[in-house]
Amino acid sequence: MQPLTESQIRSSFINCSKGEAQRLNLPAGLATWEWPAEIFLGWIDPKSPQRGYAVVETEDGPRGIVLTKTEQRSGGSAQMCQFCMTLHPGSGVALYSAARPSARKGRHSSLGTYLCSNLRCSDYTLGRRRPQGIRQMEETMTLEDRRERTLAKARRFVAKLEDEK
Ligand SMILES: [Zn+2]
Repeated sequence: MQPLTESQIRSSFINCSKGEAQRLNLPAGLATWEWPAEIFLGWIDPKSPQRGYAVVETEDGPRGIVLTKTEQRSGGSAQMCQFCMTLHPGSGVALYSAARPSARKGRHSSLGTYLCSNLRCSDYTLGRRRPQGIRQMEETMTLEDRRERTLAKARRFVAKLEDEK
């Protein structure tokens, strides 16, 4: 993705107040961040591990979302991240919830999805990290196709969250 400044990141958030966006904890080492290696910027709040953030490039510019971990799995069957389609055992995946920017009658005020619990979908998609002790589904896609798919899924989630209809 294209490099973003701290103020671009802060002003990209769509589902928290401006004040919250100003105060939220950015990832460490932003100045030396390897932007081209990121499909979207995903990180866990360094001071509040139940909160995570994702900044996704869209046609309308970067969109940031605040995600809250609502359930950390601790065992049982494997679960797949809905952005990067990586299978994780146990705690490698978490159920995240994102508040909708505008509440509307007759509609859920938040949207939930299973994601890599560390939000490092970029690393899993491009093979820089692999979950331990689990076999991934066979895929014949190229890395470039996988990158596109992860970006498309993250964008779709943002669009669904923003949908005003
Ligand atoms: Zn993922």
